[in-house]
Amino acid sequence: MSKPRIAFLGLGIMGGGMARRLLANGFPLTVFNRNAEKSKPFANDGARVANSPREAAENAGAIISMVADDNASRSVWLGENGALARATTGAICIECSTVTVGWIRELAAAAQKRKSELLDAPVTGSKDQAAAGELNFLVGGDPATLETVRPVLAAMGKNVSLLGPAGSGALVKLINNAVCGVQIASLAEALAMIERSGLDRASALEVLTGGAPGSPLVKAVAARMTAPDFTPMFLLRLMAKDLGYAIAEGKQASVELAIAAAALDSFQQSVAAGHGERDIAAVVEKFRKG
Ligand code: NAP
Repeated sequence: MSKPRIAFLGLGIMGGGMARRLLANGFPLTVFNRNAEKSKPFANDGARVANSPREAAENAGAIISMVADDNASRSVWLGENGALARATTGAICIECSTVTVGWIRELAAAAQKRKSELLDAPVTGSKDQAAAGELNFLVGGDPATLETVRPVLAAMGKNVSLLGPAGSGALVKLINNAVCGVQIASLAEALAMIERSGLDRASALEVLTGGAPGSPLVKAVAARMTAPDFTPMFLLRLMAKDLGYAIAEGKQASVELAIAAAALDSFQQSVAAGHGERDIAAVVEKFRKG
């Protein structure tokens, strides 16, 4: 069977890598990015470049969005030149951005009005995994719809988890990132303490990263904090966004995410100090300065 045309909206750190995987796997591709500069290299590599999400959606069998947040997602799907207005009947809409459950439900209802199905399919993994096609998709939605687009997701990821109805992928992703945000803030605090105490930093960190606290995330971010290398893999301001969304979802479930709120405070202070466009590892600077 021939591969469906894919419309890909959002060519940032994650979307750029994902769209390249689709091209490498032979999917006909149309791309859109708000800042048109990021689309140009894709034109050279055989993708069509659209001037709007609406234009990108024309004749697409699947439309994938990978943008910053709820506002960006609303803009590319339902904005003045949004993709849903031009989605063909039966086109499958896949929202990969980390967004709220409320927005996913609203978007799913809007898609249904257009006779399209929506899957929420946020991802775990970062820039390197996106480029290598090794993401994990956390999917909410109809199982049969997922089967239709499974080959599309397989081109970009190594694992697909179906977690329940629309919004389930979004919710698990926010819970996942609340834990990640807490780990990073806690690591930043610990590293500042190691440095200020005059301990041998390498030996002390080896105890942490080689022992019980040494999650894959803590290992990777500890290396970036100590280098220091704050080249964005995951923008600090987007972690603040995820923690804020997770805390709001917690309220819906009558759970106060107090630990995540403390982590959010650290990330928000870091954004205010001008670190928002740097990697999440830059949260350590707040603790280093005291
Ligand atoms: P990024 O590099 O900042 O890319 C963000 C994308 O969203 C860009 O294409 C940007 O367009 C677009 N965008 C932002 N606001 C917009 C608006 N109002 N209208 C239209 N487009 C808009 O971020 P990223 O790291 O790729 O993250 C994308 C999503 O993946 C986010 O939801 C993030 O939380 C999630 N995520 C990131 C990682 C990671 O490690 N980086 C991992 C898992 C999930 P412009 O180029 O024009 O600004």
